[in-house]
Amino acid sequence: PSFAKLNLIDALTTVLDAERYRTPTDVQSKVIPLVLQGKDVMAAAETGSGKTAAYVLPLLQRLAEQTVSANEALSLILVPTRELAIQVHGNILKYGANLNLRSEAVFGGVKINPQMKRLRAGVSLLVATPGRLLDLMSKNAVRFDRLQALVLDEADRMLDLGFLPDIQQLLLTMPEKKQTLLFSATYSPAIKTLAHNLSQSMLAVQV
Ligand code: AMP
Repeated sequence: PSFAKLNLIDALTTVLDAERYRTPTDVQSKVIPLVLQGKDVMAAAETGSGKTAAYVLPLLQRLAEQTVSANEALSLILVPTRELAIQVHGNILKYGANLNLRSEAVFGGVKINPQMKRLRAGVSLLVATPGRLLDLMSKNAVRFDRLQALVLDEADRMLDLGFLPDIQQLLLTMPEKKQTLLFSATYSPAIKTLAHNLSQSMLAVQV
C-alpha cells in the first residue's frame, strides 16, 4: 500500500512526505477511500493505529473547497476527553497546514466565552466533547443545519463515560443526511446498537 494510490490531494501528501509517513497504516488504507466516497464507516481501531489520520485526511479533502457561514460547523468530531480533543485538533492543524480551513476544539473545564467567540466565524471542522458542546449549542454558539460529516472517536469510551444521552440530544440538531464515521477500540453490543441508530448503511471495516 502507498499514499499515492489513495487519491489524496497534493496539499495533504506534501505534509505526509514532510512528516515521513511512508505507507498508510491498515486502518488508513481501508478507511480513507471509503470516506472520500462519502460512505458511512465504522472501524475497530485503537490509539496508535493511525485512526486519526484515517478520518482527518479525507475529511480535510472533502471540506477544502467549501465556504462556511457564521456559527456553523460543516463537520463534527466527538471525543470523550479534553486530552483527545486537543490531540485531534493538533493533527487537524498539522495535516491541514496547506489548506485554508478553520477548525476549533471545544471541551469542558475551561471558560466558555472564549470558545463562543472562536466559533462565531464558523468552522469546517469542530472537535468537541459532548457536554461542553451541548452547553455551547444552548447558547446558540454553534449550529449543525449544514453538517456534512459526524465522527465519533473512541465511541466505547464515550459510552463508558455516560455520554450517550448527550450524543442523542446532539443528533436531534443535525441533518438526517450526513456522513457518519465511528471508531471504537471494542465492539460491544451497545456500540453496535449506536452504530445502527446512526446509520443503516454503516460499513464495518475489519482491521
Ligand atoms: P493515532 O492512532 O491516530 O493516535 O496515531 C498514532 C501515531 O502514529 C501518531 O503520532 C501519528 O502521527 C502517527 N502516524 C499516523 N499515521 C502514520 C503513518 N501512516 N506513518 C507513520 N506514522 C503515522
